[in-house]
Amino acid sequence: MPASENALLSALLETIVPRDGFPSAADAGGLRFLTGSVSELQGGSPDRVAAVLALVEAAAGPHDFVELSANERLAVLDGLVNDADYQWFALLVADGYYADEASGGNESSASWKMLHYDPTPPGGWPRPSWSAPTAGRVDPSQLADRYDVIVVGSGAGGGTAACVLAESGRRVLVVERGSWPDASDLWGNHLRNPRTDAGFDSLAGPPSAGNPRVFGGKTDVVVWPSDPRWGNNAMTVGGGTRVYGAQAWRFAPLDFVMASRYGVPEGSALADWPISYDDLEPFYARAERELGVSGAASTDRWAGRRSSDYPMPPLALNVATEVLARGASALGLTTAPVPLLINSEPYGDRPACARCGACVGFACPIEAKTGSHNTVLARALATGRCDLLLETRAERLLTDSVGRVVGVSLVGSLDSSIWRREVFAAEVALGAGATETARILLASGNDGEPDGLGNRADQVGRHLQAHVYAGAVGIFDDLVADGLGPGPTISTCDFRHGNAGVVGGGMLANEFVATPVDVLHYLTSAGLIPRHGPEAKRGMRDFYPRMQRIVGPIQEMTLADSRVRLDWSVRDAFGIPVARLSGGVHPEDLKAQQLLSAVAEDWLSASGAREIRRWAPRELDGGPSTGQHQAGTARMGTDPAKSVTDPMGRVWGHDNLRVVDGSLHVTNGGVNPVLTIFANAFRIAEDMAR
Ligand SMILES: Cc1cc2nc3c(=O)[nH]c(=O)nc-3n(C[C@H](O)[C@H](O)[C@H](O)COP(=O)(O)OP(=O)(O)OC[C@H]3O[C@@H](n4cnc5c(N)ncnc54)[C@H](O)[C@@H]3O)c2cc1C
Repeated sequence: MPASENALLSALLETIVPRDGFPSAADAGGLRFLTGSVSELQGGSPDRVAAVLALVEAAAGPHDFVELSANERLAVLDGLVNDADYQWFALLVADGYYADEASGGNESSASWKMLHYDPTPPGGWPRPSWSAPTAGRVDPSQLADRYDVIVVGSGAGGGTAACVLAESGRRVLVVERGSWPDASDLWGNHLRNPRTDAGFDSLAGPPSAGNPRVFGGKTDVVVWPSDPRWGNNAMTVGGGTRVYGAQAWRFAPLDFVMASRYGVPEGSALADWPISYDDLEPFYARAERELGVSGAASTDRWAGRRSSDYPMPPLALNVATEVLARGASALGLTTAPVPLLINSEPYGDRPACARCGACVGFACPIEAKTGSHNTVLARALATGRCDLLLETRAERLLTDSVGRVVGVSLVGSLDSSIWRREVFAAEVALGAGATETARILLASGNDGEPDGLGNRADQVGRHLQAHVYAGAVGIFDDLVADGLGPGPTISTCDFRHGNAGVVGGGMLANEFVATPVDVLHYLTSAGLIPRHGPEAKRGMRDFYPRMQRIVGPIQEMTLADSRVRLDWSVRDAFGIPVARLSGGVHPEDLKAQQLLSAVAEDWLSASGAREIRRWAPRELDGGPSTGQHQAGTARMGTDPAKSVTDPMGRVWGHDNLRVVDGSLHVTNGGVNPVLTIFANAFRIAEDMAR
């Protein structure tokens, strides 16, 4: 970089995060961070940096920005705050400053010391008592020609199916696109995890290189995994459950009969599930027991009957709990702890949560967070009847001359060369997540079903849904954040249903423990701190321990035109046509979002917050709702014209092909979905085992 550019960049870093008794972004290695990271970011970042420099020079007019006083520089940047390129640049500089030291822009953890943030658990890390199994892992040369069942994906649905089937005596192959990184590799990086939208690839995969998708918004755009429009969950062993927040909610009985209860809003494809809460209840209980959920008896008036209590008590409270409990009580809200797939005491062969300061988005270094990888998948591998093939993709399903599924075509790369192999099985279970499961079905057409397997009625890939979120952020005078994970300790389910003029509703709870980068994004996007200058830095110091967010997912109405299709004109690194995501959300979703955001605001206000910002309403045509809670693209039903599978997840027309993941959800509840995915996978895999 030429010296003049270096000088200008350094002056910008000094202005965006200035020295004020604590090091500036430039002092903390910001220049090195910037030059190292722009090449890693997608979207022409070097050009974008050059554009910002030109913008600053133009805004400084006849003056040399470098020669201006601190106040004069600030005034120049104040004039640029509405420019999208400048906003991106200023946030990138601040991201580097507030991220982990290893990311390069936070030398000697300068900002963490300033904020008194230390993610290490208060008592230090206990010695890990669980280690990842190595038995059962195979490479392509060790594959058998034939298995009883091939399970695609090792996430919530796939891992559970593999467990039940292997324990029932079947010979199982699990094919997983991601790898099995060490938990510590997925813990420390505050810019490269699925919760940070700083523009970097998440280490929980997949990498951007070679993995485009097409986002069909107002115009089609090719997007990469680091872009929220790509719709990433996580692609690693355990899928989303390796790094998720682990909120473990049961859907309510009414969530299974949304169309009957509310009618079908115009323009939506709202439908009832083909099974009821009571059908799923034994499997909810089984998932809670066999995986391990911490929670307390429910006060939720919408909740269904429970055949058993939670196997573990709730996790310890944090400093926000009492404050928010007072506010809830003043408003007459019913509250309860948040159920979590996190050990509150040693459970199974794994320890209790040590309460570190980096939970959602990260793998748990001591495996106190329960995922499919440290429970059901590990059990499957322990049978000796399950092979696990990592870093391999199911490209498409193989069918014989009469269209019956006979196996899976696999693809991977070894020593930079691509290999392909066909593996045969009596049955196949798809657990690749809602986008990829649909993509595999669509890519597997044959003469009899040219538009994809199970797609005679053009249903595969439709009804893509996740969760529009509602919420508000509040600043308190007192300390309300103590940096102790996991974070969510208090919730209200009062608004899941029964809201006048609203179809459905949702749950609200306090947020996961937030990293400094998280807080930077929360405060900046809410307009609670400016994008640069001393006030932004002071705001981070003042608000970091005084900020609480109350957030929650809204039950979406389900649109037939929110969908996954194939884009044959865009191929990934293996030459496979990629998923094209298109659609939007329903006006009813926004009504519910506004209601719940207003409740979140009231709750924060009644709890003593002095400054509150509600979340901005979601755009109707801003693209489909997808990402971490993606679901619905292979919905279950009783009518082959309106669904992709029967009530047992069997793809219509294919008695030996099942779907076992979130794709099956007809609707996605007003709570986080994973416990329902686990429970439903237990139900379907038991049926397969029978
Ligand atoms: C940061 C984060 C926080 C979250 N917090 C919560 C929470 O608190 N509560 C909650 O309920 N949910 C949460 N979720 C969502 C939850 O993880 C998902 O709902 C759940 O994992 C989905 O399960 P699934 O079986 O449908 O798919 P996944 O768990 O996504 O598993 C799919 C697997 O298939 C693999 N795969 C994809 N394509 C292929 C292919 N072609 N061949 C082979 N393998 C393939 C993927 O790599 C992946 O491992 C969170 C997710 C994230 C990322």
